[in-house]
Amino acid sequence: MNREIFEEEHEEFRRSFRRFLDVEAVPHAREWEAEHVVDRTFWPKAGALGFLGFEAPERFGGLGIADFRYNAVVVEETALSGMAGDNFSLHNDIVAPYLVEYATEEQQERWLPGFVEGTTVTAIAMTEPGAGSDLAAIQTKGRIEGDEVVIDGSKTFITNGSQADLVIALVRTGEGDGRGLTLVAVEGGTPGFTRGTPLVKAGRMAQDTAELAFSDCRVPVANIIGERGRAFDIVKRNLPRERLSIAVNAVASARRGLALAVEHATTRTTFGKPLAEHQVVRHTLAELHTAVEVAGSHVDRCILALNAGELSAAEAAGAKYWATELEGRVLDEALQLFGGYGYMDEYPISRMWRDARIQRIYGGASAIMLDIVGRDLTRSVPA
Ligand SMILES: Cc1cc2nc3c(=O)[nH]c(=O)nc-3n(C[C@H](O)[C@H](O)[C@H](O)COP(=O)(O)OP(=O)(O)OC[C@H]3O[C@@H](n4cnc5c(N)ncnc54)[C@H](O)[C@@H]3O)c2cc1C
Repeated sequence: MNREIFEEEHEEFRRSFRRFLDVEAVPHAREWEAEHVVDRTFWPKAGALGFLGFEAPERFGGLGIADFRYNAVVVEETALSGMAGDNFSLHNDIVAPYLVEYATEEQQERWLPGFVEGTTVTAIAMTEPGAGSDLAAIQTKGRIEGDEVVIDGSKTFITNGSQADLVIALVRTGEGDGRGLTLVAVEGGTPGFTRGTPLVKAGRMAQDTAELAFSDCRVPVANIIGERGRAFDIVKRNLPRERLSIAVNAVASARRGLALAVEHATTRTTFGKPLAEHQVVRHTLAELHTAVEVAGSHVDRCILALNAGELSAAEAAGAKYWATELEGRVLDEALQLFGGYGYMDEYPISRMWRDARIQRIYGGASAIMLDIVGRDLTRSVPA
């Protein structure tokens, strides 16, 4: 069955983004993995071709296109090309709404042109050494002094952290809705803002993930995004989109892993016949294929629901939970079918298997996703 959610313009965008990846990214994958970061020149190349910040208004260089199908195309083609990049999805899927929907006109004038051009790499810094799943436990302080916010604290595991020119940090200023959290944009080079070198991880080797530190870091109050002390609501409203992006990536990567396994099973011979002619192998492939297609249909529905403004927190959490758990299972079974070869770094399946592991943790761990779905399900049940 064909997927029905895309129009010809999305497919054209897909072809052109894929060509771009094949020329500008795939040949550099190994080099970037060794550096633990993609080359900085990759960003403006993508920006010049319209692959970044396309939902920004045209007056700031964007295309004014708020259609998550384009975001999905970027995420899918990145996964299908074998690049485990979170860099663009962080920029396009996660940071974009903070700047496009919640930043003031003045802030947009300062930040959006570079965001679209790829000269302003962005990050969002919520997680801290002592607060990940439980964002309400955030300790980084934002003290208001006159027309400045003075930030003290540290963040960890921040995607694009070592390269970012603009970091949206979640800090505790107090007051507001009682949780007292505020989003403040910190520009690279601000005195008191330092970052570590990219962290060395178990997978997603080319992905820039860094620790950030703020010490008496002073930024203008004019850099606060949204209302002071009321950031929790904005974060909550944006999380479904972040989780859907991860689910889209999970389905694409499961599809690619499965395709590699099918190809291998039809060519590798054991006991005098191709692996695929052993019924147990065929059944494994068939079972995984069916599960991926079912998950893909559901995630497609979620994409349309997000476009229509109807994707709930619980639906997005459920999609992320299901797609990422399935991705883990598919890639594990696929690697198994490759036998010892599957454990060799030169085989793409081994990298995909490593890269997939974090999907069940970041953007909200599976246990947290189930909790969101469960609470939603039982909310209306009388005690
Ligand atoms: C590669 C990478 C990129 C990341 N990018 C970013 C980023 O750009 N910005 C950012 O802010 N953060 C980022 N993160 C952080 C990520 O979102 C957190 O790691 C994640 O939310 C989990 O938080 P934690 O690591 O503190 O784990 P903890 O909160 O300590 O949880 C540990 C485990 O305990 C379990 N658990 C926790 N709470 C519950 C509960 N209530 N019930 C049952 N089980 C529970 C879960 O299994 C969870 O995995 C990134 C992390 C990584 C590794």
